[in-house]
Parts: sequence; structure tokens; C-alpha cells
Amino acid sequence: MGAARPRQPYQYVRTVLVEPDWRRLPGWRGVTEAQWRDAQWQRAHCVKNARQLRAVVGDLLTDAFYGQLAADQAEFATMSMLLPPQMLNTMAADAPTERHAFTAAFLADPVRRYMLPVRADRHPRWPSHPKAERDSLHEAQMWVVEGLTHRYPTKVLAELVSTCPQYCGHCTRMDLVGTSTPQVTKAKLVLRPVHRQELMLDYLKRTPSVRDVVVSGGDLANVPWPQLESFLLRLLELETVRDIRLASKSVVGLPQHWLQPEVLEGVHRVAEVAARRAVNLAVHTHANHVRSVTPLVAEAARALLEAGVRDVRNQGVLMRGVNATPDDLLDLCFALQGEANILPYYFYLCDMIPNAEHWRTSVHEAQRLQEAIMGYLPGYATPRLVCDVPNLGKRWVHQAVGYDRERGISYWTKNYRTELEVRAAGGTPLERRHPYYDPVDTLPEAGRRWWSEQTTAQTARTAPTALAVPAPRPAPTPQTTPEGAR
Ligand code: SF4
Repeated sequence: MGAARPRQPYQYVRTVLVEPDWRRLPGWRGVTEAQWRDAQWQRAHCVKNARQLRAVVGDLLTDAFYGQLAADQAEFATMSMLLPPQMLNTMAADAPTERHAFTAAFLADPVRRYMLPVRADRHPRWPSHPKAERDSLHEAQMWVVEGLTHRYPTKVLAELVSTCPQYCGHCTRMDLVGTSTPQVTKAKLVLRPVHRQELMLDYLKRTPSVRDVVVSGGDLANVPWPQLESFLLRLLELETVRDIRLASKSVVGLPQHWLQPEVLEGVHRVAEVAARRAVNLAVHTHANHVRSVTPLVAEAARALLEAGVRDVRNQGVLMRGVNATPDDLLDLCFALQGEANILPYYFYLCDMIPNAEHWRTSVHEAQRLQEAIMGYLPGYATPRLVCDVPNLGKRWVHQAVGYDRERGISYWTKNYRTELEVRAAGGTPLERRHPYYDPVDTLPEAGRRWWSEQTTAQTARTAPTALAVPAPRPAPTPQTTPEGAR
């Protein structure tokens, strides 16, 4: 007899995509298939507060759960509640209907853990890292016009809107995106959308080194389609623009939006122009767990591909309690790649925003996960785990040039200057090492003690103010004024 074959660390099993039956929830018992597929019905029935959640789930959640939810919204939430039925329906899909059992399954649900956080999720001693910031990536500091971040030499991020059809608890743009919460007064885009877009296009005309434009927000599903189409067609008139990436989590959170005939016809018109001009037009979305990848999500992705976009890609966020295991990452990637035609592209480490420590992972854990997922997916569909280092930009997790594991401080260098650094006299030396910080609760005892000694008094004094008050928006540079646009 031969020796037993060793099992693989990960066992691939083909995923069958499932749309959980929404009629299992008392508030949706009478909802028809046609209503469920209707984007307007989905938007009109989003859950925005505990009362609306109760109306959907009836008695299935305990009062203790609602107490936890209310406490979190009062004390910690950096994003307000906004859950399309599509997303809520993927939570606790197979749970028993006995109240306590359902509540336990709901609490443990990976999508619930980041879309509907409760007080008990947050870390009791270190809810925030002492170095956490509202605009942790300093995107607004790199605005060359309002909403246009020029961080890399050849690419820009254009934020067209500051709202989304769904609000994620860990949103990296919590400074700007969504409505204010008791803890966070949001910053505001002040220019009218049409004016802001004019300024963006004008900047891009004057800056031929930019070849790649990420058109984002917020979520593009909240930009009225005619306005978005007009902006994209004008972007496509710029010979220098070679890549356009449209960012929308709603491919996953509200696929019904992208399945609307008028939206798909518009995407097709834009894609035809992009193809004629040999511009790569892609859609980037944001799925964090395999349970979010339902048949409707796959249908929306395929419809976008049929409409002519070159790729639909996924940029997930790596989060403890959600997907920070090799099995969770690979299950999600196989469902995206194999069943939904969505390319697994990146997983970002959750950024250093306030009250996000329970989600964040250490760099060494992310390095371990990157190694663990290698070799299973096609190489081109094996996502990179990346760390978005403040003041620097994205780096693969293995690119740290130094790492103090005890205090959880990794160091990173960059190989380019931002546009603002180029303009600034002297600029920033490329050799400068930029720090990034592991969650304090993951450190050895000596590291946790060091951070306690460093920060206890200062954190108590400054954190509430840092969270509640929007960072000052940068003043427009001369060429960003309306006069400059002319
Ligand atoms: S969809 Fe994106 S921009 Fe909107 S709340 Fe979620 S992470 Fe933030």
C-alpha cells in the first residue's frame, strides 16, 4: 500500500454562487423577484438605522444586539449606516431562525463585521492606533484641484462624488465620504460638480505626464449617469489618457445599478469610444468575502464586460474577522475569478483611520498571507497584498526596507516624487524612510508597553478632537481657480 497523499494546505472546491432567499427575512416576505432586481427598489429600501433593520429582520436579533449597535454608532462609528438589501441579504444567510442562534450567526458574519459594526467588535484598549488619522493617506493634501489627487507621476485619482449606495465601516475616505456621525463631522466638497469636473479636465489637459485616471468617489453609482458619461467622453478626448478605471463597490453592493439598461447602454457608448482610441477602460470593485459574490454580482460583471469594458477587477481590503485567512482569501478569489469574471487584483491592508484597529492586520501577517495564497490561482489572477503607506503610496507587503517587530513599525521608501513634491523647492529625498504601524494589540508585551508609555496621556488629550473636526482642506493653487480653468 502506498503512503497516504498529504492534503494541500488549501483545498480548492468549485464555488456555486447563491443568491440567498430574501423572503426568509420577515420584512421581505412579499418582495418579488422583479422588485429585488430593481435598482430603485433597492435604493428605496436601504437600511439606514436600527428601526429599519428591525423592520426587515423582525424579532430575529436580540435587544442586546441593538444595544451594541447603538453604542457603536454613538461612540465609535466613522461611517453612518447604509445597507442596500442586496448586502444585508448576504448576512447570516444560512442561520437558524431561532432568535439567539440567528443573532450569534449574524454577529459572526464576515460581511456584517465590516458593514454593520457593533461596540463589541472594537478593541477595548486600542480602538485606534495612536498614529491614526482621518485622511490617513493625506489625499486632500495632494489635491491639485478639489477632489483630484496627484500622488504618482503618471496617474491621478478623481473623486467625483462623496457619497455611495452603501457605507463600509472601514472606509479609508471616512474623512470625506458619507454623512456625519456623532463622532465624525465630515469634510465637504465645496465646488459644484460640473465646475469641479471642468477644473479636473483642465488640469489633465495641462499635465500630459498623466496617462492613467482612476475615476472614483465615493462610488460612481451615485453620479447621475449622463453626468458621468459626459465626463468620461471628455476624458477620452485627451490623447494623453491611456487608462481609465471606474471605481464602484456597488458592482458588489448594488449590482442592480449596473444592470439597468440605460446604464449599460451608456457604458457601451463610452467603451466603444475607448476601444476606438485604444484606451483601457476597466471597472474596479470591492468585494471582501466570498458570501458577497452572488449570481447577481456575476451577472453585473458579465454585463459590464459585454458592454465593452476590458476588465472588472477587485480591490478588496484585508481585515481581521472578515477575510484574513488563506482560506477566506482564496475562496473569495476563486469565486471572483472562476464564477464571476472579476479579476482578483489587490487586497489593501486596512488603512490607519480612527477606530479601525480591530480590522487592521500587521505587515508580517500580511506577508504570511501573501505567501499562503501563492500558487493556487493563475499567476495573473493572484492578488497582491499591498500596504498604502502614508505620504508614500502603495507597496507590496514584502517591500518593507526595515521592520521593528517589537514596536510594530515598518519602514518603506519610494521611487518617485508626488506632483506637489516636484513643485516644492528641494522636494522630499527619495531615501527618506516612511513609517507604517502594526496594530498595537498584535505586538509583543514589550511593544504594547512602549506604545502605552508613549501615548496614553497624549491620546486622551487629543484623539476626540482629531476625530471630530475635519482636517482643513487645502487652498486651491493658482491654476485651480476658475480663472485658471479658463
Ligand atoms: S464604497 Fe468605497 S468609498 Fe464608499 S464607503 Fe465603501 S469603501 Fe468608502
